[in-house]
Amino acid sequence: MTTAHTANVFLVGAGPGDPGMLTLRAKEIIETCDIMIYDYLANADFLKWCKPDCEILYVGKKGGAHTLPQDKINDLIVDKARSGKIVCRLKGGDPYVFGRGGEEGEELVEAGIDFEVVPGITAGVAAAAYAGIPVTHRDFTTSVCFITGHEDPTKEESGNNWSVYGRSNSTLVFYMGVGNLPMIAENLMQNGRAADTPVALVRWGTRCNQTSMVSTLANVAADAEARAWKSPSIIVVGGVCSLHDKLNWFEKRPMLGKGVVVTRAREQASGLVGALTGLGACVHEFPTIAVEPLDDYNEVETAILQLARCQWVVFTSVNGVKFFWNQLAAVGLDSRIFGGMQIAAIGPATADALRERGIIPDFVPDKYVAEHVVAGLLERGIQGNDVLIPRAKVAREVLPEELKKAGCNVTVLPVYETKLVQSSGEEIEEAMKNEAIQYVTFTSSSTVENFFELITPDTLRCCPDVKLASIGPVTTRTIEKFGFKPAVEATDYTIPGLVEALLADGK
Ligand code: SAH
Repeated sequence: MTTAHTANVFLVGAGPGDPGMLTLRAKEIIETCDIMIYDYLANADFLKWCKPDCEILYVGKKGGAHTLPQDKINDLIVDKARSGKIVCRLKGGDPYVFGRGGEEGEELVEAGIDFEVVPGITAGVAAAAYAGIPVTHRDFTTSVCFITGHEDPTKEESGNNWSVYGRSNSTLVFYMGVGNLPMIAENLMQNGRAADTPVALVRWGTRCNQTSMVSTLANVAADAEARAWKSPSIIVVGGVCSLHDKLNWFEKRPMLGKGVVVTRAREQASGLVGALTGLGACVHEFPTIAVEPLDDYNEVETAILQLARCQWVVFTSVNGVKFFWNQLAAVGLDSRIFGGMQIAAIGPATADALRERGIIPDFVPDKYVAEHVVAGLLERGIQGNDVLIPRAKVAREVLPEELKKAGCNVTVLPVYETKLVQSSGEEIEEAMKNEAIQYVTFTSSSTVENFFELITPDTLRCCPDVKLASIGPVTTRTIEKFGFKPAVEATDYTIPGLVEALLADGK
C-alpha cells in the first residue's frame, strides 16, 4: 500500500465527462489502483492513467443492457478487495448520486472492508452549468432537487412526490429521464407547474459533443421527439433555464463539436491538443510518428567533445534541444559548454526549450523558411563559421545546403529519429465515415507520409468533407504529392499559427 491508500476500496466519482472535472484525489486513485472496476462513463479516457499491470474490469450498464447485475457487482468488489489489492470502483459523476454507490458502501461495511468515497462532480450540476444554467439563482428559486426520471411509468405508486414538485418553485433536475419525458412534463403540469415553465435538456454535458435545447413543459416532449433527443441527458425544469441564452459560455466555443485529428507524435502533441480542446473541438489523437532516441550516441558524444570548434549551433526543433541536452548530461556536461558560442533557434517553441535550459538564443527568425533563416544568420556574421545543426536523423537538407552555399562549414548531427507508429487506422476511418471528423492536421511532412501509410489516399478520398490542414508550405507540398490539396494552411508556420488558421476556416 502506498501512503495514498488509506483504504482497500475506493468508490470514486469520475465527474461528468470533461477530463478537467475529475478531482485530484480521483486521479491519484486511478493512477495507483491494482484493480479498476468501472461503469459506463462519460469519459473512459481516464483509464489510460491506470498502471500497466492494473486489472481493468467493465461492469457498466448502457440504456438498460446490464453487463453484470448489481448484486454480482457487489460480490466482485468484495472478492477483489479480499485479495488485498487496491480496488478503484469508478463511476460517472458522483458515486452517491444515482450511482448505487450507497449500496456498494453498505456491502463493504457488511463484509468488514475499509473503503473511502471520492465524491465527483455530478452531471446535474455540471451539465447544467456548461449549458448556461445555474441550478440555483436568487431571482428564480431557493432550492434544487435531483430526481430520478427512470421510474417505471406503470408502477402503481410513484416514489416521486409529484404534488410537491408541482407546487414548489424548486429547480428540478431529472437524471435518466429522456424516455419518460412526456410523463414527467405531464405530471408536473397536472400538479401545478405552469405550462410555460422553461425546461432544458443537456446531452453529453461538459464534453465537446454537448448539445442542449430549451423548451417549456407544454412543448418539451414534442420538441424532444422532433429532434430525436437521446440520453445521456439531464432534464432541468425551472425558471433558471431562462438564463441559458445569456449564460451559455461553453456552447459558444468556436470549434465546439468539430472533430479534429492530431497526427503529431504523442510526446509533442499536448500544445496542439490543449489549444484545440480549449476551443471546444473533439480531438482525436492519432500519432503517426514517434520520436525515439538513436541506437548509438557515439557520434553525438564526439561532437560534444569537439564542440568548442564551433562558432554557431543551430537548433531546429524542441526534440533536437531535448536529445542534445540528454547527451550532454550523459557525458557529465551542461549548458556552460556553449560558452561564447552563438545559438540559433528555428521557431519560438525551440527558443523556449533553450530558455528553459538557461540559454537565450542569439537568433530566432520571425519566419521559418530556410532562405529567410539563412539571410538572418548571414546578417549576424555566420559566413565562414563552423556550424553544428543537431536535429532528426532524416530531415530536409535545405538549411544545411543553404548555409554551405553561404560558405559555412556545416556539420549535421542526428540526435534522435522519428519512426512510423504502427497503429491501426480503423478507429479514425470509422470516425471519418461517420462524419465525426472535420479536419486532419499535419505538422510536418513525415506526419503526412506516415498518415498515408496508415490510412490510404483512397479511404480519404471517400470522405470528401474531411478537410486537411497544413502547418506550412513544405508540409503542403507533401500533402499535394498524395493528390490532395489542404483546405487550411497556416500563415505563421507554428502550432499557434495552425490553430489560428483552423479557427479562421470555421468562421
Ligand atoms: N452518478 C451520476 C449519475 C448516474 S445516472 C452523476 O452523478 O452524474 C446516469 C444519468 O446521469 C444519465 O442517464 C444522465 O441523465 C445523467 N448523466 C450522466 N452524465 C451526463 C452527461 N455528461 N450529460 C448529461 N447527463 C448525464
